[in-house]
Amino acid sequence: MSSEAPAADFVLPFGRYNGVPLAAVPSEYLGWLLGKVKLSTGIRATVAAELSTRGHTVPPAPPPRPIAPCRRCGPNVGVSVHWQKLRNGQRRLRAECRRCGKFLTYPPSVMPYTTMANAALAPHGVNAQQAGQTDGKR
Ligand SMILES: [Zn+2]
Repeated sequence: MSSEAPAADFVLPFGRYNGVPLAAVPSEYLGWLLGKVKLSTGIRATVAAELSTRGHTVPPAPPPRPIAPCRRCGPNVGVSVHWQKLRNGQRRLRAECRRCGKFLTYPPSVMPYTTMANAALAPHGVNAQQAGQTDGKR
């Protein structure tokens, strides 16, 4: 018995069950949604909570969209991902063409991109654990 039950009045804002209260949506569909569709963090958490309340396993989120390759060099060259430090002290990921260095995109800070960026840091003497901490102001 949870005192906060936001799932009860949550209504799906899209898809086949658009406008249907979460509680009335079949578990099958909720499982499909979690495993196949890119959801915002809030919606994902709500749907996952509903599904696990029903005793179902919550599937892992789908992998992020792949980075589109460099138009000049093609897909075989590969992409390099690294952390970029912003003026406000935050970091974001930046993807570049491995051959010509052309900027491609800012990928989301999720695996496998974070892993790639941390691996890129390693040869420069910054260990991955340290790089993973964002609140390390001293
Ligand atoms: Zn290129």
